[in-house]
Amino acid sequence: MESYNYLVVGSGLFGAVFVHEATKRGKRCLVLERRNHVGGNIYTENINGINVHKYGAHIFHTSNKEVWEYINQFAEFNNYINSPIAIYGDEVYNLPFNMNTFSRMWGIKTPAEAKAKIAQQVAEAGIKEPKNLEEQAISLVGYDIYEKLVKGYTEKQWGRSCRDLPAFIIKRLPLRFTYDNNYFNDRWQGIPIGGYTPIIEKLLEGSEVMLNTDYFTFIKENPGIAEKTVFTGMLDEFFGYSLGHLEWRSLRFETEELDIDNFQGNAVVNYTSREVPWTRIIEHKHFEFGTQPTTVITREYPLEWEPGAEPYYPINDEKNEILANRYRELADKCENVIFGGRLAHYKYYNMDQVIAAALEAIRKEFNS
Ligand code: FAD
Repeated sequence: MESYNYLVVGSGLFGAVFVHEATKRGKRCLVLERRNHVGGNIYTENINGINVHKYGAHIFHTSNKEVWEYINQFAEFNNYINSPIAIYGDEVYNLPFNMNTFSRMWGIKTPAEAKAKIAQQVAEAGIKEPKNLEEQAISLVGYDIYEKLVKGYTEKQWGRSCRDLPAFIIKRLPLRFTYDNNYFNDRWQGIPIGGYTPIIEKLLEGSEVMLNTDYFTFIKENPGIAEKTVFTGMLDEFFGYSLGHLEWRSLRFETEELDIDNFQGNAVVNYTSREVPWTRIIEHKHFEFGTQPTTVITREYPLEWEPGAEPYYPINDEKNEILANRYRELADKCENVIFGGRLAHYKYYNMDQVIAAALEAIRKEFNS
């Protein structure tokens, strides 16, 4: 006899939205979470009054009105606009690449001057068919931007030289010919006041949650506990890695509390030279315009993934996509299992896409 309608594996955003909607429709949900906290990668922890993004900086941004209105039921969002800074040696640049960046780099003032400078550098490089990422980037933005803002950062991220990386990784490098440092082009943007964890806690109200509980161990002892399973863990793990491992890129976070009130004056600072081992430093208080007397910073280091490491970014190259498709075929044959979220779909999703996908799964499930 099933005790629950849904066994939901994972308390990240996908699982939590699904649980909220199913509970609202009178269904009983049991949530299993392997970690010792809910929220998946959007989990925030309060340290000295500062909401620390434990799994990397999370800025909510969307152009999907339904999703924006949905998430606003569970939190009030502030007016944070993501405007990252790049540090290259002693030089400080605005991101994304825009007129402030070009002006700082070349001392120019107008869009026409910036366009001419880039066109001149692209022409001088004379690359017709880029053979690697370096050539691809130079053929798109010219030498200066590549050298100071793309090269070192990308090499750290991938752990190898841009000359040894395939050109397809960078399809385009957006250039903005306005003085606009807003990183995102979306209609709505912000940070939930009080962090993301309270949103997840509200979404999970009315369900039962078991922390520190791994699905694969649990289900052996409790087969048939629910009518259906919503699985938001890793796709290849669900099938016992029977076809092989899907590859990811990983990250290492080093968090430090500092006895000063302001470390870097901005939430996100990218370090674009190869010599600095971290790619970014996040100063969490600036996401919520914090005025606390101390601060918390996190250095982000790229990490080569190996089985067992935390999976952050899927490597959607041809080899991995072929494997993922074979797993997806197996998933399609699983009755009574709904696969959802970034790990089970082996896709990079922003938070708004995860919410939209969970709401879509609910519509399908309840024919509504
Ligand atoms: P997850 O959050 O990973 O949740 C899955 C949960 O399942 C986890 O808690 C995991 O512990 C649990 N689980 C897995 N396997 C098992 C098992 N066998 N048993 C029990 N539990 C299990 N998006 C944005 O919109 N804006 C941003 O600025 C942004 N920044 C990001 C920065 C980084 C570094 C990363 C990696 C992602 C970022 N994202 C951002 C994307 C965002 O994190 C995801 O969209 C979102 O967290 C995905 O939610 P999910 O539920 O699919 O997965």
